[in-house]
Amino acid sequence: MNKEKTCQPKVFVKTFGCQMNMRDSEHVAGILIDNGFRLSGTMDDADVILFNSCSVRKHAEERLFGNIACLKGLKKKRPGLVIALMGCTAQAYEGKAMDRSSLIDIVCGPGNETDLPRLIKDVLKKRCHIIAVDKFNKKRPELFPKYREHKFKALVSISEGCDNFCSYCIVPYLRGRERSRHARDIIREVKGLAGRGFKEVLLLGQNVNSYKAECGKDFIKLLEDVNKIKGIERIRFMTSHPKDAHKELFRAMRDLDKVCEHLHLPLQSGSDRILKLMNRRYTSGKYLNLAEEYKRIVPGGSLTTDIIAGFPSETDSDFKKTCVIMKDVGFDSSYTFKYSPRERTKASELADDVPDDVKASRLKSLSELQCGISEERNRRLTDKVVEVLVEGVSKKDGEILTGRTGTNKPAVFKGSRSLVGRSVDVEIESVTAYALRGRIVR
Ligand code: SF4
Repeated sequence: MNKEKTCQPKVFVKTFGCQMNMRDSEHVAGILIDNGFRLSGTMDDADVILFNSCSVRKHAEERLFGNIACLKGLKKKRPGLVIALMGCTAQAYEGKAMDRSSLIDIVCGPGNETDLPRLIKDVLKKRCHIIAVDKFNKKRPELFPKYREHKFKALVSISEGCDNFCSYCIVPYLRGRERSRHARDIIREVKGLAGRGFKEVLLLGQNVNSYKAECGKDFIKLLEDVNKIKGIERIRFMTSHPKDAHKELFRAMRDLDKVCEHLHLPLQSGSDRILKLMNRRYTSGKYLNLAEEYKRIVPGGSLTTDIIAGFPSETDSDFKKTCVIMKDVGFDSSYTFKYSPRERTKASELADDVPDDVKASRLKSLSELQCGISEERNRRLTDKVVEVLVEGVSKKDGEILTGRTGTNKPAVFKGSRSLVGRSVDVEIESVTAYALRGRIVR
């Protein structure tokens, strides 16, 4: 056995939140490996338990602190265990995270994450507590760690932070103002991934459409450059803000052969009054026109969205407007959330006056409505042949493969596990609201 290996501290990383958080966790895991740590698949034998948590919704925070509280016994048994908190919640709580849970040893904001190997080593050695949140709003150094969770799909962050200040959103306060990575660094990262056999990249940012590199490149130019990279077969991006989405973007989606025909365009509400209170800077009419333009330019493309139910003062009539636009647009799927006030945001100054049971019942209505629309949208694909990137094997049946279409719809079909990581043509035989089922034809 390699003696040195046994001295490498083991880290278990647990992530709560969106794909940005997942990418941050993966990035930090890579940096830790490059600095002599090992990853652990379980908390039980880890020297360090690292939580990366989103603060966008209260629910995620509650789950985080609930999970930390469950470690009381483990920490008692192994007092040397280091518990670290990174991400938006670390930035939001700063030192107060340690007041909320005395089990936490390190609080590390998103801007300080590349310092984590040093911070953890300090705590392991000196048994101290560290709060590192001072690099808020700063550009992170470009480190390019090799570690990736998946073998052929990769998350690639292109920008961080946000200037939009939607009234309910805490992101600009925790991630800072929008900073775009240099196009040169993004291209270097994607070329490196292609060289290692990665097929799909998901370009990530709080608002990818407003990407602006120091060299002046905008998002469309970036898409064009990534589209030229040999080996990459699919390019996805997320998230787009309606105020920055336009015909040129849709044309690029149509014309660039590797860019997937899937647009995630958060609507949030169908009521103009609520959209104004949310500071979204578009009306339902403008959104509808945009959606129609997208469908005209990218026929067959899919459109997905986010909706918040129960924003302060939302009436039944406001809510009905959301349902109407959902039907009019015909989203392929939607992520729906109950509003919860976040400290420091403008909306938190408004009375959270929609009762919880009303929020819950609106959420249920949205989900039922979406279910019907999704099924109807998927049914249109029956008997059609779609290209699917095979992502894995079903946990229930080893002969069934799972994958996604370019439009980001999950698909299941029989096939050999040797196809994982490859693209196949699948003829769709039946559908549900959530998935397509078919057979490989090529
Ligand atoms: S666009 Fe709005 S909702 Fe999205 S991250 Fe920025 S402030 Fe938050």
